[in-house]
Amino acid sequence: MARGGRRRPEVEDEAVVLRTAPLGEADLLVTLFGRTLGRVRCAARMARRSTRRFAGGLAVGGRGRARVALVPGGLGRLHAFVPSKDAPALSRELRAFACRGYVAELTDALLAEGDPDPEVFDALVRAVHVLDDPTGAAVPILRWYEIVLLRRLGAMPALDRCAVCGAATDAENVSFAWERGGALCRDHATGGAGVPAEVLAAVGSFAAWSGEGRGPELDAATLRFVRGFLQRALAPHLRRPLRSLSVLRDLLRDPAGGGPGRAAGSRDETVPRKA
Ligand SMILES: [Zn+2]
Repeated sequence: MARGGRRRPEVEDEAVVLRTAPLGEADLLVTLFGRTLGRVRCAARMARRSTRRFAGGLAVGGRGRARVALVPGGLGRLHAFVPSKDAPALSRELRAFACRGYVAELTDALLAEGDPDPEVFDALVRAVHVLDDPTGAAVPILRWYEIVLLRRLGAMPALDRCAVCGAATDAENVSFAWERGGALCRDHATGGAGVPAEVLAAVGSFAAWSGEGRGPELDAATLRFVRGFLQRALAPHLRRPLRSLSVLRDLLRDPAGGGPGRAAGSRDETVPRKA
């Protein structure tokens, strides 16, 4: 622990705001994802009382140059956050706002403190960029980013090869077990219900996508399945239920939406069951 009064060294990093919460009367607790710092939590003094101190704002999903004094094992101090010049202004559109909140909260809930990952950082920046573009492939980019995080966790289920031995799986009805890592060959099949191969292929089409352009074009029912599949894969790794998911569910009613399908009838596909 550094002694009180001694000035702590400051570091500068490109960062995305993952979360903000009130802290005391005037301060803000800010969780950042820094390109080289990883996930850090810091206090932004007077951020709620004075709009001048963080004039560029600290909106969730915003990207900027952060100046932080790190405190080992404790809360850092955010001294400045200057929005990146090449970062587009965040869309005020409700859907973009909700989707941004989701990718930020997902990142916050899945990544450990510190532990930087420039690839995940760049993927988050790309996701926010696409979500803010009214013509962007919002739904595919959400699925793509979920897969980026699942891979980061080493938790992406096997789709077209046996999770145990790597052998080819059955061509049509694939044996699948979450607890064994995904698809299984005939030798390792556990006898549970199989999954149609085309359904796993739909998930695989997002896994193979670069994140650029329009993304896989699938019908609404298949998109809902892919969403439910990935949420089921993510669920065991979440430290807490995601608030933004219920926001998405309330906001987005169109069948191809990033959140729920229709208001009724798709609950079972939308709500990930805890393992
Ligand atoms: Zn096998």
